[in-house]
Amino acid sequence: MTSPRNSSQIKDNNVRTLLYAIKQNGPIAKRDLQHLTGLSWGAVSSLTGELQERGYVVLCGKQITSVGRKPAELDINGNDFYLVGIDLNTSALSGVVTDLKGRIVREWTRLFARLDYDCVMETLFSLLDEILLQEFPEKCFLGIGLAVQGFVDVEKGVSVYLPRVRHWKNVPLKTMIEERYGHYTNLMHDPDCLMIAERTFGAVCLGLSQNAILLRLDGGIGMSIMSNGQLHMGANGKAGEFGHVSVRKDGPVCTCGNKGCLEELASGDGLVRRFVEQVNQGRKTIVDISTLNTEGYRALAMAAQKGDALCMELFQQMGECLGFALSGLMNVLDPELVVLYGELANYRTLFFGALFEQMNAHLYTGIAPKVIFSEQGKDAAAQGAALVVADHVIDGIEITAELEQLAKEKEEAGKNK
Ligand SMILES: [Zn+2]
Repeated sequence: MTSPRNSSQIKDNNVRTLLYAIKQNGPIAKRDLQHLTGLSWGAVSSLTGELQERGYVVLCGKQITSVGRKPAELDINGNDFYLVGIDLNTSALSGVVTDLKGRIVREWTRLFARLDYDCVMETLFSLLDEILLQEFPEKCFLGIGLAVQGFVDVEKGVSVYLPRVRHWKNVPLKTMIEERYGHYTNLMHDPDCLMIAERTFGAVCLGLSQNAILLRLDGGIGMSIMSNGQLHMGANGKAGEFGHVSVRKDGPVCTCGNKGCLEELASGDGLVRRFVEQVNQGRKTIVDISTLNTEGYRALAMAAQKGDALCMELFQQMGECLGFALSGLMNVLDPELVVLYGELANYRTLFFGALFEQMNAHLYTGIAPKVIFSEQGKDAAAQGAALVVADHVIDGIEITAELEQLAKEKEEAGKNK
């Protein structure tokens, strides 16, 4: 175990430890905080007092219960500090305002009129203007988090590539947003934001797993990998490009240039491309082709549910390819849990049987991980992006030297008791 270098570091960590404990467990009594963090009563009292003074934490009222008086509890202040979370996805732009705990206060959705650089930036800025300059002007915003599809350079805050968006290359979103609004801004790949939301509010947070993978199934395929409780980013930040795992040596050519990528066989947009190919070859279908532009894969799913043979075959093929590719991943990563998220995942009955059959048939260990469907709402990626910024804010909280000294004395007095 590494020991902290000096007392200032100890106190600095203690104030954050307490705030994280309140964020995750609040409302919580001070006595329980003491047990949870292992800090002395004096240190808990003085540091939570400081957090209350600064407005991060509030005291919930004392309650009289049938077994006596329930002690006052501390919780995150949900009224004075806010974060913005944005999900920049080519199917829609979602925005949320959350408190420091990640609880959604309000939400917005915008569609893009066209998928080109000018239109996407205009839509993004108009949404941020509405949230930051019109809707909550008097409120205290602590930062902006963006969940971004495609390839993201997290360190530089650059959206390198956004699928299907014309003239979009190396867009320095972090700098552009920070210069325009003056708020700290952070970019992350959208499946990683979903994993964080899932960990905080969904199944992973229930302690089911420290080793999990999350798949976002929509127009494209996104993946996040959690290994021993940490996100696995890879040497170049490109880990999790599951959509470009090739499952057919001579399969259809993908947008990336390779052949037989999962994106072509098992994503929503890929399903539509395979469908059009088959119809052009003379296959019959009940799908009204004119609805494909607006409805995309949803039109195919509806038809499959009504028994359309071509659409049923495409979803069956999707399940087989996903299950086959997942088995390889299971053999390498050995996760306990696979979480499926996204609108395409909602049509599970059309592909889940084939997915399971193929996955189980190719598992080396024979032990299948638990596969669950996320119960998080449509704003989960935006919420996860805001949660990342909330942690950045907490990590940046400093306390004064006088308070550090006071907490240190109380901590030592507590130990000598
Ligand atoms: Zn590809």
